[in-house]
Amino acid sequence: MKPAHFDYARPRTLDEVLHLLASRPGDAKLIAGGQSLVPMMNFRFARPELLIDVNALTDLDYHRREGDALCIGALTRHVTLRDSALVRELCPLMAEAYRHVAHVAVRNRGTLCGNLCHADPASEMPAVMLATEATLVVQGLSGRRQVPAADFFQGVYATALEPDEMLVEVRIPVGQARLGHGFEEVSVRKGDYALTLVASLLGIRNGRIEMAAVALAGVADRAMRVPTLEAGLLGKMPSDALFAEVGAAASLALIPADVDHADAEYRRDLIRTLVPRALTRAAERAAFQPT
Ligand code: FAD
Repeated sequence: MKPAHFDYARPRTLDEVLHLLASRPGDAKLIAGGQSLVPMMNFRFARPELLIDVNALTDLDYHRREGDALCIGALTRHVTLRDSALVRELCPLMAEAYRHVAHVAVRNRGTLCGNLCHADPASEMPAVMLATEATLVVQGLSGRRQVPAADFFQGVYATALEPDEMLVEVRIPVGQARLGHGFEEVSVRKGDYALTLVASLLGIRNGRIEMAAVALAGVADRAMRVPTLEAGLLGKMPSDALFAEVGAAASLALIPADVDHADAEYRRDLIRTLVPRALTRAAERAAFQPT
């Protein structure tokens, strides 16, 4: 299918983008890489009257360290982040997760920020944002606000963005570079969205777990942290038995829906299997980090 008729604008400044968004509240959509929006338009799931192409805002194509944060601009493509030595150094969890994201053609055009705004519940990067406790910087004509990742994802394709706002930057705390990371995913084919995935960070001091962040996706209408799972790890010594126990508890606590290729029971099995694998990997890596 082809999309319904739409108007098109390619502004050159952020200010123009925001004025255009505000001029057609609810009827305008930004297009970055187009890798999710265009299929949605082709299937008529999205019918914006105005497409605002942000690809001329090249000054938003950056990723750099600023103080204690890895900052990523709105126009930074998946391919740049996937291949980045800085990302591998400052956010190895993201680097590992990127091995599972889409295919070359999609990664060449798609942006991290577009991916987060699309908010697919089986996508890798929302889980990475939750585990790392990233902040999403959004801007409208009335100014900027900083939204914690935990508040940004609100359901299937739903976020905290107002219709007149743009996600301009992602800020990931870099203290996590001292943590061990583990990322596990099962999908039908390489490069597909996940059936289930687990993104984890562990900090271990004096042989005991002092920090745990475990985010899952493909198990609910949005990526989610599991606080009871994390609480069950804190203060304990890492072990296969402990990780198997929390994996089993998580698989009972979460109620995934049936989807194509995976009914709820299979996805529960995935949770039970992938949580211990991700935690084991994170614990191995944490053991080599300076305390
Ligand atoms: P667009 O398609 O341009 O926009 C997506 C949405 O975000 C639109 O609603 C748009 O209005 C909005 N938007 C874009 N930028 C902004 C902004 N800065 N501020 C506010 N709103 C904005 N993704 C995965 O995570 N994992 C996968 O395994 C995966 N596999 C894929 C396989 C295929 C075959 C395809 C086609 C896509 C796949 N994707 C996957 C999706 C891919 O990651 C997209 O690139 C991404 O979801 C959207 O990024 P984009 O820049 O193309 O955004």
